[in-house]
Amino acid sequence: MSALLAINRLSVAYGGIHAVRELSLEVAPGEMVCLIGANGAGKTTTLKAVSGLLAPHGGSVHFDGQSITRLPAHEVARRGLTLVPEGRGVFPRMSVAENLMMGAYARRDRAEIARDLDQVYALLPRLTERRAQLAGLLSGGEQQMLALGRAMMARPRLLLLDEPSMGLAPLMVQAVFDIIRRIAAGGVAVLLIEQNAHLALKTCARGYVLENGTVTLSGPAAELSANPAVRQAYLGD
Ligand code: ATP
Repeated sequence: MSALLAINRLSVAYGGIHAVRELSLEVAPGEMVCLIGANGAGKTTTLKAVSGLLAPHGGSVHFDGQSITRLPAHEVARRGLTLVPEGRGVFPRMSVAENLMMGAYARRDRAEIARDLDQVYALLPRLTERRAQLAGLLSGGEQQMLALGRAMMARPRLLLLDEPSMGLAPLMVQAVFDIIRRIAAGGVAVLLIEQNAHLALKTCARGYVLENGTVTLSGPAAELSANPAVRQAYLGD
């Protein structure tokens, strides 16, 4: 497999606390991969290090064959790696349309931006009716959809999704994950981190299990779902 994203022995520490230790992980072009683990296992820290928001202590991150290990976040984003952070990070006092346009801030191709905007509205019909509304007035699920739409406006090759199901009612979780699947079906690779292991393994082709900052298991999602240790620790068996 020639990887789109290759993380090799990544280590990240906060002061003396080692949050991620020698973590290795790969995502192929167009692949959906999940990283599951308990609270505090190091999932968010991994995504922050990959997206340039935290500098790793050791190891490397390659994207499309090039090192992005110590690049600043805006440089990482410019290469096609887009983070949808935990808590969504939408701008509450800006309209839905303005939030979406923020996703395209680094682009200059106006005609293409307009076309992508139409595609995002087609993907997110609930937002089309609300395009003039302030983002802060949307429901949690709609804000998650808006965050996904904004990420799509950057034309990502890889989406890094931090807990998209967090705090959402079950029906809304389904709606958000339908959108994520449609985005992936369009050829965008996805690295999904989730505490909801059941949902993550159902959605993704492959998965990694993170414990105390280290990968303890990895494999096809169906294999992980059938693994007794995974079932007991993460699937509530
Ligand atoms: P959660 O699902 O709760 O977000 P997580 O798997 O994403 O968990 P991280 O947020 O990456 O885990 O945290 C990994 C470890 O690093 C935890 O022990 C956490 O307490 C610690 N940690 C996270 N952020 C900081 C910080 N800014 N300063 C110090 N320690 C931190």
